[in-house]
Amino acid sequence: MLRTHTCGELTIENKCTKVTLCGWIQRSRDLGGMTFIDLRDRYGITQLAFNMEVNAQLCEKARQLGREYVIKVTGSVIERSNKNLKMSTGEIEILVDEIEVLNESKTPPFTIEDNTDGGEELRMKYRYLDLRRNILKKNLELRHKMSIETRKYLNSLDFIDIETPVLIKSTPEGARDFVVPSRINAGEFYALPQSPQTFKQLLMIAGYDRYYQIVRCFRDEDLRADRQPEFTQIDCEMAFVTQEDILTTFEGLAKYLFKNVKGLEIHDFPRISYSDAMKYYGSDKPDIRFDMKFVELNNIVKGKNFKVFDDAELVVGICAKGCGEYSRKQLDELTEFVKRPQVGATGLVYLRYNNDGTLKSSVDKFYDEDLLKKWAEAFDAKPGDLILILAGAAEKTQIALSCLRLEMGNRLGLRSPNKYAPLWVVDFPLLEWDEETKRFYAKHHPFTSPKPEDIPLLDTNPSEVRANAYDMVINGVEIGGGSIRIHDKMLQKKMLNTLGFSDEEAQIQFGFLMNAFEYGAPPHGGVAFGFDRWCAVFGGSDSIRDYIAFPKNNAARDIMIDSPAKISSLQLDELNIIVKDIVNKK
Ligand code: ASP
Repeated sequence: MLRTHTCGELTIENKCTKVTLCGWIQRSRDLGGMTFIDLRDRYGITQLAFNMEVNAQLCEKARQLGREYVIKVTGSVIERSNKNLKMSTGEIEILVDEIEVLNESKTPPFTIEDNTDGGEELRMKYRYLDLRRNILKKNLELRHKMSIETRKYLNSLDFIDIETPVLIKSTPEGARDFVVPSRINAGEFYALPQSPQTFKQLLMIAGYDRYYQIVRCFRDEDLRADRQPEFTQIDCEMAFVTQEDILTTFEGLAKYLFKNVKGLEIHDFPRISYSDAMKYYGSDKPDIRFDMKFVELNNIVKGKNFKVFDDAELVVGICAKGCGEYSRKQLDELTEFVKRPQVGATGLVYLRYNNDGTLKSSVDKFYDEDLLKKWAEAFDAKPGDLILILAGAAEKTQIALSCLRLEMGNRLGLRSPNKYAPLWVVDFPLLEWDEETKRFYAKHHPFTSPKPEDIPLLDTNPSEVRANAYDMVINGVEIGGGSIRIHDKMLQKKMLNTLGFSDEEAQIQFGFLMNAFEYGAPPHGGVAFGFDRWCAVFGGSDSIRDYIAFPKNNAARDIMIDSPAKISSLQLDELNIIVKDIVNKK
């Protein structure tokens, strides 16, 4: 090794030891008689000291070195006169007697400090420099730890890690595929997997009854802050299990990760049905770090000539504890908030429960004090509380109120990233109707099993069929989801028919799976977790990008390597691809 120690390990215990360190120059300070350099490597920072009186030539040399130069120094560990107890190496410094420049560095385009002056795009372009910063280093260390602990837990339960192919076949359903042209098979394409779903099911049929893989998946979707075209799943499948077995096993994984990565004991892991999640939180990924459940008011408020409520399919509200003193301005702000297009409400009705016990609403014209008392009772409100009500079409109103609930949670400081509230949402609907294409889509995916008792409804009322499907949610973020699968050919065929596939199309697209069902398919089910997302939630961040070493930007580009990029006409010819003019002109 070029070094005897790292920049993070020397303490007062090492006093008088002769050491050699390698690293990058974080900063240097020239104090006339003395020059100090902070030397950084992956493990920390160690202060180097050069004394003009002891070795003027060396001191002069040190002064010439710029930021991010890579150097190797040899010297003795001495006790610092000016200690910095915030740093693990803060009690010592190295009195250097030899210095070697291993490589020079241009001045970096942004400061490599915790609070950098570099904008996001610039830092993405020089990601290798950004990765030198503490924050990203900590994120990648957290990710590594998550991966190790996940493997430990699953290995201990006899799960086996099996790799599945990356060049597979494009199938309808789900998101858009990324495709790869085949040179050898002109005019044909592979697709990159959106998930190893069918392969893990085939592994169950093959008898590998507990599988996992921490695996890259690809979806060609429009990007959002928490989406990347390629992302990583903890993908799992089990045979001979019920839904209950899967929930317990992976609740176990979550608790294990909380304990071993975050040092937290999780006791409560509630389960709530999809319909209750929508009813009480207006969301299938409720943030239950705080209560503020929805209360439906249809029966109380209708028939009093207030047209907005009378015409509404749903009148529903929340009670914000202790917000009764909100000013006119604050209430106007909330009204503006709910009217934002992303939230989608047309207006906001409020009811203030004043500290003196009187009630004041924005619709006093229609409701006298006695009626308002009934509203307050429905929420179990107390003097000092504020009730916020939305009305309109049911689903739209639920979604809007869900946004308002989260906003109030933020305002009241109820959504601390250091508090964790995981839960399972269960009993999802099997299907989702799409008005535009006038057909059903699988809410989860086409291999999800309906609840056996709901199977007859497939013929009569498909939208009422519930699935044996579940999502794990932490702090309002969907961390993962899965289902018990169909393992019967006829039921799979029926499901595909319901999704609009003819028997023939079903055979072409999914014949390999349905045929496999004829060779002794065991009952099975599984789950997949968004690994990047889980890391972000544990790191207390909204953006998965900060937990991926080399992510893509908002336009799905890697601006460091400049990808995607054109390929040569020779390559195009080999692949039998003719690119439309529009691309070449770009
Ligand atoms: N393959 C599914 C997904 O990616 C997860 C599962 O059902 O196991 O969402």
